Amino acid sequence: MSRRDELAANLSHVEARIQRACRAAGRPRDAVALVAVTKTWPLADCCLLKDLGVTDLGENRDQEAADKAAALDGVRWHFVGAVQTNKARSVASYADVVHSVDRPSLVSVLGDGAVRSGRTVEVLLQVSLDGDPDRGGAAPDAVPGLAEQVVLTEGLRLGGVMAVAPLGADPAEAFARLADVAARLRADHPQATAVSAGMTGDLEQAVAAGATHLRVGPAVLGARPASLR
Ligand SMILES: *Cc1c(COP(=O)(O)O)cnc(C)c1O
Repeated sequence: MSRRDELAANLSHVEARIQRACRAAGRPRDAVALVAVTKTWPLADCCLLKDLGVTDLGENRDQEAADKAAALDGVRWHFVGAVQTNKARSVASYADVVHSVDRPSLVSVLGDGAVRSGRTVEVLLQVSLDGDPDRGGAAPDAVPGLAEQVVLTEGLRLGGVMAVAPLGADPAEAFARLADVAARLRADHPQATAVSAGMTGDLEQAVAAGATHLRVGPAVLGARPASLR
């Protein structure tokens, strides 16, 4: 099978999962966007996915993402991994959406980078659902303050929230807590409608809990070599 056929088959399987999950949740299919996470996979795969109709690609390393974004137009680039502060100006020069904003210093530097590049970058606030600082994310209590900072920062637009389900916990329960944080955020900032949650293993639970963006790697691209995670 060609790589193109393999990606097409994976995509149709993921699409069927998303449609089933939307039907079960009573949500329209177009309420949920698929972000294909192409990290560690070659640019050629990104090009094939674009050809196959994928509009949103996700990356988590600055250099790799910058190179791919420079080489491929016409897709929305999502930065989904931890952003080191010293990479934030670079990330703001090509990312359309940054899913992993979790601290005030990062907001300032991203805004500065966006302004220098003459761009507007959409920001999702990453929420920690397990309280483990090593896995990234702001405490739910810190979200309102960060949101206020984002809306006051030139070059940034507040899009919503993002989370990764805690290891070894029930994703449905975790995504329900994220939905609460998202609802409180929308009460103050009605435009902040994005809820980025759900990956290959838990996209059904994420759709049930109201996710608007699914970040899917292996189910689209195949299993990643363990050494490259
Ligand atoms: C790699 C990555 C994904 C893709 O996850 P899979 O489990 O591999 O589908 C999603 N979100 C983040 C933050 C990632 O780093």
